[in-house]
Amino acid sequence: MPVNYASNAELTAADRDRILAKAAAFAPPDNVLADGRRDLVGLSREQLAEEVAAIGEKPFRAKQLWHWMYHQGVTDFAAMSSIARPLQEKLAEHFVVSRPEVSVDQRSKDQTRKFLFKFRDNEAVETVYIPDPVEDRGAVCISSQVGCTLSCRFCHTGTQRLARNLSSAEIVGQFMAARDAYGEWPSPKGETPRLLSTIVLMGMGEPLYNYENVAQAMKIVMDGEGIGLSRRRITLSTSGVVPMMDRAGEELGVNLAVSLHAVRDDLRDELVPLNRKYPIKELIAACRRYPAASNARRITFEYVMLDGINDSETDARALVYLIAGLPAKVNLIPFNPWPGSTYKTSSPAAIKKFAEIVMAAGYSSPIRTPRGQDILAACGQLKSNEEPRRRAG
Ligand code: SAH
Ligand code: SF4
Repeated sequence: MPVNYASNAELTAADRDRILAKAAAFAPPDNVLADGRRDLVGLSREQLAEEVAAIGEKPFRAKQLWHWMYHQGVTDFAAMSSIARPLQEKLAEHFVVSRPEVSVDQRSKDQTRKFLFKFRDNEAVETVYIPDPVEDRGAVCISSQVGCTLSCRFCHTGTQRLARNLSSAEIVGQFMAARDAYGEWPSPKGETPRLLSTIVLMGMGEPLYNYENVAQAMKIVMDGEGIGLSRRRITLSTSGVVPMMDRAGEELGVNLAVSLHAVRDDLRDELVPLNRKYPIKELIAACRRYPAASNARRITFEYVMLDGINDSETDARALVYLIAGLPAKVNLIPFNPWPGSTYKTSSPAAIKKFAEIVMAAGYSSPIRTPRGQDILAACGQLKSNEEPRRRAG
């Protein structure tokens, strides 16, 4: 009997379809108010043009709306001064331009600020603004899902089951609401300094398990006639969803961060259970294919430092061997504890030694300073409900 072996490419395509189908099963609700008005935030340019056409208006109105929403940051049609009053009123009958509700707004003693944003169906996520300690710039750490299906052992989000994916409106909305909080409108042009200068998709959830919405949101953020944040200022962090990495590279070309955390499959299987599906070898191969990887735009490997677990000198040497030849940097993240966590962070001496070995091999290996720990805003501490799901890490 002839056996049909699927090729690698076929397997990847099948996997990708399965991932997209699963994402659709956790789709966000329609972005429409109870009174029937549609929220225009989060639509692509084409979708916005369709909405405008549906109320009998010309395509250039979509361009005007885009400018008011994403360049000026205006949420009230009455403030859109290039649009005549009767049309402003007509727009307000059919549409809204909204923001997520700020449910909690906390500031750390180091000025890191954490928001809990609530959406129309009462689901919520956390978003963190991390200002640079010296210069007037900072990163906005954005969530992509309410909870996470993955259950990395050291991560607080991983203890919250996945409620649903976020829509592109909710993803862009986190950034726009954070900009509102700092009054950073209109969008600064070109190289003008920005307080909210980079986006890191490192909040709650696995962005590559909600690829379509994340991609649509990032395209809006990158659009030069609106927020205009270049792809070089956006970093997507993944726990290693290999089949979606190529697509993200081709379509978005944003910086890639990979949550590696272990250099042996047996340990990574335990810490990042997704490794059982996409083991280290496949993950590194996908990194080597990632198109944006170049000397100027290195791939970041994130490595959480867990005392006595993954922080030995042997691990450090195995790490540089693993990534040999890749334009990369290694971000060492001291483990951030959360209520119920059992891991301990590595000693400063162990982290320093680890960094030295990585550095000696020619890779930059910054040690990430924990920010906002006092308000549970540091890496891996985010979580938006208290419902227990399972064991603590
Ligand atoms: N789901 C994506 C992005 C969100 S997590 C991912 O896993 O990459 C952002 C980073 O914080 C990841 O590298 C994650 O592994 C790390 N992290 C999770 N929990 C942590 C903790 N308790 N202390 C330090 N870093 C943690
Ligand atoms: Fe999910 Fe990332 Fe946390 Fe893992 S580390 S549970 S993938 S959010």
